[in-house]
Amino acid sequence: MNTKLIQEPPSKSKQPRQSSVSAPQARPALVGEKAANYKAWVAKAAKQPMVLETVDLGPLGSEEVEVAVENCGLCHSDLSVLNNEWGISRYPAILGHEVIGWVTATGPNAKGVKVGQRVGVGWNSGSCMHCHQCMSGSHHLCPEVQATIVGHRGGFASHIRSHWAWTIPLPEKLNFADAGPLLCGGITVFAPLAIHALPTSRVGIIGIGGLGHMAVKFAAAYGCDVTAFTSSESKFDEAKGFGANHVVSSKDSAAIKKLAGTFDLLISTVNVKLDWDAMIGTLAPNGRLHVVGIVLEPIPVSAFSLIAQQRGISGSPTGSPVAIETMLDFASRHNVAPQTEHFPMSHINEAFARLESGKARYRIVLDADF
Ligand SMILES: [Zn+2]
Ligand SMILES: [Zn+2]
Repeated sequence: MNTKLIQEPPSKSKQPRQSSVSAPQARPALVGEKAANYKAWVAKAAKQPMVLETVDLGPLGSEEVEVAVENCGLCHSDLSVLNNEWGISRYPAILGHEVIGWVTATGPNAKGVKVGQRVGVGWNSGSCMHCHQCMSGSHHLCPEVQATIVGHRGGFASHIRSHWAWTIPLPEKLNFADAGPLLCGGITVFAPLAIHALPTSRVGIIGIGGLGHMAVKFAAAYGCDVTAFTSSESKFDEAKGFGANHVVSSKDSAAIKKLAGTFDLLISTVNVKLDWDAMIGTLAPNGRLHVVGIVLEPIPVSAFSLIAQQRGISGSPTGSPVAIETMLDFASRHNVAPQTEHFPMSHINEAFARLESGKARYRIVLDADF
């Protein structure tokens, strides 16, 4: 924090959205001031190592909030955007979209958060706030939703800026050091459970990696009967440790066929081709296969298998700000936290290589060390 930027005392009328927020220090509000020494790890082009640079963030927008980054999760999407796998990347890029930090400044029209408050910023950092989706609470489906790391500066930096609505206050009891991955990976798997599962549901989680291990923890905490599908036998015991009642090899088509008609909800977190026919066959009547892992190859579906058992297939991206708040509240009440490996942010390129190797157990967090 540059103390020269402190200009006026906090407004008493500006209340946080939650009463249980952490406010480690009362810091005065800063309005629209330009700061001098912002640093960030910058990707100059696809597949290039990131380099440390000083960046000029310009004046703070009127509805923007500035956050000093404490740590930021490293998500597989950061790697996909670094490598331009989806063809949407824009360089220079500042990646990182699982930010934990505290508010250092608020624009004059920013609401709901105050300087000194601990907050999180996830996959999205803005939306139009007036379209049908925003007005009905599905801000994450806004046609103008702003992804944090595409055409916007992300969280592998000393500071990040975000629209106030997407700057999420954190519950006091949350494990802040490991909470970053909840803001993208966590909400991605929590949202389909919250929408499509009941505590009485039999739920299958396909793929026990960064997303899947959080899905198992959430589904177990919710009370579901949880089956973990993984291709790696080395993860069988760990999946049970996360709360899975059963573990099945996703490569064992015979074992999968034996589960025919079992699951009310299958959440697929994988980005590889599976025996989809057998997987869909494990759905109970009215069951649903829900896809959150970006598998680039199409999933073949037989209409008959959907119609006869009234089954469905669906997908979803992250979630709305309120869904993220709800997920964080649930995570703090049930002590759901990702299993993490921490790297200093200055070792960012090493951390990306570790993620790319597939050896990370299970989610990487970079601790800011500017
Ligand atoms: Zn992500
Ligand atoms: Zn909108």
